[in-house]
Amino acid sequence: MIVILNNKCNLNKDEFKAYLKDISEIKTKIDLVLCPNFLNISEFKSDKIILGSQNVSAQNSGAFTGEISANILKSYNVKYCLVGHSERRKYQQENYHEINQKIKKLLESNITPILCIGETKEERDSKKYKEVIKEQLLSAIKDLSLENQKKIIIAYEPVWSIGTGLIPTNNQIEEIFSYIKSYIMTNKILYGGSVNETNVDTLKKINLIDGYLLGTLSLQEKKLKLFLNKIENLTN
Ligand code: PEP
Repeated sequence: MIVILNNKCNLNKDEFKAYLKDISEIKTKIDLVLCPNFLNISEFKSDKIILGSQNVSAQNSGAFTGEISANILKSYNVKYCLVGHSERRKYQQENYHEINQKIKKLLESNITPILCIGETKEERDSKKYKEVIKEQLLSAIKDLSLENQKKIIIAYEPVWSIGTGLIPTNNQIEEIFSYIKSYIMTNKILYGGSVNETNVDTLKKINLIDGYLLGTLSLQEKKLKLFLNKIENLTN
């Protein structure tokens, strides 16, 4: 079981130091991957928590002002990186080609990509959600060897669930997870979207879930601890 903590654009330097101290004290056997903002990556120090990034450049190191390459992330000991988060697709107009390039750069640097995919409310309501998921998936793994495809972690995050308090039913999650597995030989599929210390009681009944991607809950240390206790019993 793996849990990814996506801090998004939160926590200034001092806040991050206090936060890191708090979450480092959580006793858990779960693999915890923390994705701070880029600047806080350089403040990260932990022998328990694994370092991740929220983003990477689609370019190699060089004349790309404002970008952070996979090679730079690697030098900070980053082991995982989110790619194609719905907020980047929406606000930064991140497209299929860029997402595919980012995955390739990460794999070249031995950083594990966590590919975020998921449909909007309109796409679900109009029954287009499977087509959308398939397109997001296949465009992201374009030209990758089977061996490299297997290295990618998939995070299913319905856009309508992120930060809204709404979660899909277990049947809906199971349907998508099986669908994803029919297109990619991934080792792990995570669920993300409004996961908290309460709804995990329902989510943990789904055997197909290999882990979770947490946004809001990543910043709520006490609730995060409760959540981890609940899923830890599954992995013991
Ligand atoms: C996310 O943004 O990836 C996410 C899962 O956010 P939240 O947990 O707040 O829905």
